[in-house]
Amino acid sequence: MARGVIARYRDFLPVTEATPHITIGEGDTPLVAAPKLAQVIGCRELYFKLEGCNPTGSFKDRGMVLAVAKAVEEGRRSIICASTGNTSASAAAFGARCGLDTFVVVPRGNIALGKLAQALMYGARVLAIDGSFDEALNIVRAITEQHPVALVNSINPYRLEGQKTAAFEVVDELGDAPDYLCIPVGNAGNISAYWKGFCEYHQRGRAARRPRLLGFQAEGAAPIVRGHAVPNPQTVATAIRIGNPASWQLAVQARDESGGLIDMVSDAEILEAYRLMASVEGIFGEPASAAPFAGLRKLVRERRAGLDLSGARIVCVVTGSGLKDPTTAMDVAPGYSILPPTLDAVEAAMGW
Ligand SMILES: *Cc1c(COP(=O)(O)O)cnc(C)c1O
Repeated sequence: MARGVIARYRDFLPVTEATPHITIGEGDTPLVAAPKLAQVIGCRELYFKLEGCNPTGSFKDRGMVLAVAKAVEEGRRSIICASTGNTSASAAAFGARCGLDTFVVVPRGNIALGKLAQALMYGARVLAIDGSFDEALNIVRAITEQHPVALVNSINPYRLEGQKTAAFEVVDELGDAPDYLCIPVGNAGNISAYWKGFCEYHQRGRAARRPRLLGFQAEGAAPIVRGHAVPNPQTVATAIRIGNPASWQLAVQARDESGGLIDMVSDAEILEAYRLMASVEGIFGEPASAAPFAGLRKLVRERRAGLDLSGARIVCVVTGSGLKDPTTAMDVAPGYSILPPTLDAVEAAMGW
């Protein structure tokens, strides 16, 4: 039976006797070796951590389970978040599970179809605004200051606490931290959570060392790389279409303490990596989840100084499932054949 993140890592989490042990099967996701793409990069070992295997199809479930459990513990009856999509799907699922009213504020027209379908199916009240994620987040922050509704965005500290368990799993699986951990950066909570997880495991003697973190933003939404907020962020990778990350300082600290970097990749590079991961290794992440592999290719191409990838063991976090965003997949995928229903036609199309 699935234990879930709270039961599995309770010694490392801020849970009490009063915290409900909820789970819908989050965590314990596969770490999959990718030998062919390791050759493309020229590294010793490359792994993808498949966070799309979480119950709502993204890593957001790891933090959401704890944020919602704590909201229930505190007697809250409703939760709210701003979202580019995956946070809303996850909040809606755990909200449904706990009988809470869930409100999600999303940027209209910039939320992938699968994510919107999930939020609606789980029974959330979806409030779409003609604005950006950053505006949605400002609105929900103001609402939670005035009304008794729990904020479950990643500025809720329980979100990062739950998300750090992914770093624990990587170490548990590999026996130590990898040399590099590559991750997309949007609101910058996840890179901060991984760093917290690696540091805690290191402190408690579960890991001999800590990895260098390589974070990647999209070129049209790269406030941390550019050093200033981006008022109207643009990228095909909607999960990282964020112009003013809430965890900016934490991410910079994680980057610097780990001796890593935060760089940016173009939409074209993201989409090429997206197709390669699926067609070469059978790993179908959503576009944002291809940013780390796209970033690795860029670093190799530019022969970036100070990085020794050749002997390295590298983990890329595939933050969300490719099925979340079928529209982008159909836009970039090769076409398919439409044929008459005859043996001849199908054989001919197969080249026989
Ligand atoms: C939320 C999300 C991200 C970005 O994570 P942050 O913590 O906001 O940096 C990346 N990829 C996917 C699929 C996401 O859902």
